[in-house]
Amino acid sequence: MQGMMMQQPLRISDILTYAAEANPNAEIVSVRTEGDIHRQTYAETLPRVCRLAHALRGMGVQLGDRIATLAWNGYRHFELYYAISGQGAICHTINPRLSAEQLIYIVNHAQDKVLFVDVSFVPILEAVQNDLPADLTYVIMTDRAHMPENSLNALCYETLLDGQPDHFDWPVFDENTASGLCYTSGTTGNPKGALYTHRSTVLHALIVGNVLGSALPKEGKILPVVPLFHVNAWGLPYTAPLLGMSLVMPGQHLDGASLFRLMDDEQVDSAWGVPTVWQGLMAEIDKQGRKPAGFSDVVVGGSAAPRVMIEKFEQMGVAVGHAWGMTEMSPIGTHGNMPRWVESLPFDQMIDKKSLQGRRVFGVDLKIVDEDGTAQPHDGTAIGELYVRGNTVVSGYFNNPEASAAAMDADGWFGTGDIASIDPHGILSIQDRAKDLIKSGGEWISSIDLENAATSHPGIATCAAIAMAHPKWDERPVLVAVAADSARPSLEDIHAHMSEHFAKWQLPDDVIWVPELPLTATGKISKLTLRRQLTDYVLPDLR
Ligand code: AMP
Repeated sequence: MQGMMMQQPLRISDILTYAAEANPNAEIVSVRTEGDIHRQTYAETLPRVCRLAHALRGMGVQLGDRIATLAWNGYRHFELYYAISGQGAICHTINPRLSAEQLIYIVNHAQDKVLFVDVSFVPILEAVQNDLPADLTYVIMTDRAHMPENSLNALCYETLLDGQPDHFDWPVFDENTASGLCYTSGTTGNPKGALYTHRSTVLHALIVGNVLGSALPKEGKILPVVPLFHVNAWGLPYTAPLLGMSLVMPGQHLDGASLFRLMDDEQVDSAWGVPTVWQGLMAEIDKQGRKPAGFSDVVVGGSAAPRVMIEKFEQMGVAVGHAWGMTEMSPIGTHGNMPRWVESLPFDQMIDKKSLQGRRVFGVDLKIVDEDGTAQPHDGTAIGELYVRGNTVVSGYFNNPEASAAAMDADGWFGTGDIASIDPHGILSIQDRAKDLIKSGGEWISSIDLENAATSHPGIATCAAIAMAHPKWDERPVLVAVAADSARPSLEDIHAHMSEHFAKWQLPDDVIWVPELPLTATGKISKLTLRRQLTDYVLPDLR
């Protein structure tokens, strides 16, 4: 028997219309590329989003069109999220830290129709313009007075909004309609697109709100240092308006001193970002001998949060939520909002528990499997590859059947490429990474791509790219190489050879020459053995 309840499709536009009515005075505070601080409430944001939606429609944008953004965290980027998805188009956020090659690939793969860009990223586009679709329309996210000289023939954001109506009839469509697109690095080859839906996005916002709601002060302020181009800033542009929380958008200055000043001035309650960012803030806190006023909660994710960082935050009265997730999971899968018995443990034991990756959020199922695919017990001892399932997890990749098929197991679970254990209380512990990727400052570098590019150098016979722990960047790549002959190429020479395919920060920090590489029983290079052999190795910038 069916129940007798109404059914309305879940829509992203409803989040903002709700916030404008129920939480009208909560603000979006933005450090602008224009150099000043800008403030607008959710009630003021809605009519601007409506005007933008009309402008997009006037440009011929239709249901399912991909509209790209290349921008920092700010109110205009937030407006684009809602104006694009709200009318049934797809908000494709692009990571400006990608190499030129990857940027060209994803804009062409997504077949973006319009690209909205912050002033500071205009040169990136000008450099690759000839390799982007000829009919792509560019819009620079500023006002007429700040429009830079450019070769993009670009339109001006604020001019587009001028004279447009303040009200937009948000269309009703199937809640499984695509809403957002975010590419993530593959272990090899090209980036792969996670294509979110209205349903998955609204559910994720509700789920995260459920975890957060109790941990944060009512109607407080959240600072997403995590970029809007990195899995929708972990869903905050959707969760914060639902909770009536203000968003403090940091723009382009993400160093410790700038973040400290902004958090102090705005009395930010909770700040979210990758460990690298908190290293910078911590250094500033040490310098000033105090934490920013009001700062009481930090969410750390994207890479494992070091225990010492968690300990320092907790000692200064900042509660740490250590979260784990993926682009493919919208992204939050587990969160360190611990049960009361953990909070009441002796301090050291409590920190031990908080260093783990926390418990799953509602709606995400976790399983760990051994090499044969057999599910392992959640006993805190058994280790296996982590698989996930749920309404906020991808079912494949955008226009990429090969990668889609490789990502799922026979029962429809998504393979994360992380190696983990789960204890009887449901607390996840990420132990290692099976995927061949290196994560530096929260951004990926494919070790296989590095190896392919390096071995095409005539001076290198064979090599392995491995991650080395780094206190600031979390991991940095180094090459372990066997020379082709006695004349070993220099690191500069290898960089010059590889630089066509990589952004500068992706290039290896060092090359370590060895007579031969250790192999596994199946003849593959054993990175595990290599890592063990190099336990005493120190990266050049740390010597
Ligand atoms: P991304 O799709 O860029 O968000 O990266 C997701 C991956 O980052 C995961 O599969 C993990 O390998 C890693 N990761 C994210 N959060 C954590 C964490 N808290 N601890 C350890 N690894 C993490």
